[in-house]
Amino acid sequence: MQKQTIKRGRRPELMWGLGLNDTLKRQIEEGVGPGFHIRNFPAGSFPWTRELGQDEQPSAAWIPWSVWNDFPEYRKEEYRNQDSTQRILIQDEGDKTLDMDRVLSEGFLTVVRTPLTRPKIQDVMFRAKEVTSMYSDIYRMTEEILLERELLARKTDQLMFLNKILASATESLDAATILRNAKETLGIVLPIKMLHAAFWSNQQNSKVADVELFLNGKMVPETESAWIEDLMTTAASMSGGPVNGFQVVHIDPARRPEYRLTPKEGRLVTIPLIAGQETFGCLTMLCEPDYRLGKDQVETFRSAVNHIGLALRNALTFKEVKLRADRDALTRIYNRHSFEERLVYEIKRRRRYNNNLSLLMVDLDYFKRVNDTYGHKAGDMVLQKVGEILTQTFRDTDLPARYGGEEFVVLLPHTTEEAAWKLAERVRTAIEACEFHFDGHDFSVTSSIGVASVEAGALTSDDDLIIKADKALYKAKNNGRNMVVVSGQKTAVQTAMM
Ligand code: GH3
Ligand code: MG
Ligand code: MG
Repeated sequence: MQKQTIKRGRRPELMWGLGLNDTLKRQIEEGVGPGFHIRNFPAGSFPWTRELGQDEQPSAAWIPWSVWNDFPEYRKEEYRNQDSTQRILIQDEGDKTLDMDRVLSEGFLTVVRTPLTRPKIQDVMFRAKEVTSMYSDIYRMTEEILLERELLARKTDQLMFLNKILASATESLDAATILRNAKETLGIVLPIKMLHAAFWSNQQNSKVADVELFLNGKMVPETESAWIEDLMTTAASMSGGPVNGFQVVHIDPARRPEYRLTPKEGRLVTIPLIAGQETFGCLTMLCEPDYRLGKDQVETFRSAVNHIGLALRNALTFKEVKLRADRDALTRIYNRHSFEERLVYEIKRRRRYNNNLSLLMVDLDYFKRVNDTYGHKAGDMVLQKVGEILTQTFRDTDLPARYGGEEFVVLLPHTTEEAAWKLAERVRTAIEACEFHFDGHDFSVTSSIGVASVEAGALTSDDDLIIKADKALYKAKNNGRNMVVVSGQKTAVQTAMM
């Protein structure tokens, strides 16, 4: 018998035979040549669960038609399910020829007729190899397609996420709204418990930056202090210079249980906000301690934060421009336009809710003389000071404004005539008490103030609030200046004579 040489280190390839007689087994062995091992299962012990489940599956199985024909259908099905095995059908010389469709539908690669000569077996083996390598190509290609599909799906997810970010960030020009939306949309990728932001800007001629802090929500004082300290430290290190005062805005005006968390109760993710070359702020997020992002998620997240950064930059610029348009350039208090807008709003509100509404009209006395005597610059200085006094005297809900020239107005919602009169007195005395120094000269100025009010429940028309205040002011001027005159409905009250 021919001695088989097997290459070192290479295991012979396994093939099965099902119920082969000795002749068939020998013919196949001779036909396939060295490098193969044929395991033949005799009738009565055909391979079943144990063999079919083994790791090493045969590359081919040789099955005579008579053996196959005797198998019940379920058994045939099990063999057909052996993906990595090519089944070769052996027909006896005398068997009726099966057509190829039948051979294929039975799950065979091909059919070979006895006697099994070497060329026939070589031909079958060649075809088996071809099919196997074609299958493995198809398998590899399918794998690649699946991978591509997975990558594409991930890219689509990322694009949809960025699209969401863009849409929600550009929806508003209000920084708090943008941040509220950002928390929600960024939360799709990274579960965020709290989100805060800090923005810094240098005041003119100052090296010290003012910081605006946007805190996620209302917190108890100790928690809030902890966050403020954390954000101010970050602001100082990222802005590269000293930071000074800060203002706090709450993104969400409500108090919620999660706002009790301090910076230590989670992992802090802080990302700088950059527009152009300038780092103008940062986002600080409190996240789950052991949540980690994948590499491509980190990139997506960063580009999302960049978009949000640009939207926030626009919002801050918009606020600045609006502030400039709303304010008077010299005194920095509201201008006449803002006052008139607010007056319309407050009158409407008063009609609906029946509140008190009062108005002061302040005019500086003999102001022309200040200009004439000490110069226009001195006059400007006085106007600025009066602006400061008005800002300091009133609540946030009141609206002091420069009405024009040396004339100011103050709109006082929810304020009775009596309270308005007291406030007017306070302003009058504060102006009078102010000592000005300019160019070696000391001087002071006085003011006359007209007060008009509509009381809660009053059925009077309130459109003429300005006219009434103006009339009261006129009376104050006529009666000697440096005084407050109240335009009462019944009698005009004069107070605070010099
Ligand atoms: P009265 O007590 O009757 O109000 O006398 P007055 O001099 O204050 O009133 P008048 O209306 O005659 O003059 C107002 C002056 O206010 C005229 C103008 O030179 C001055 N004025 C108006 N706007 C400005 C300003 O922006 N800067 C300066 N320096 N002066 C201004
Ligand atoms: Mg005047
Ligand atoms: Mg005037």
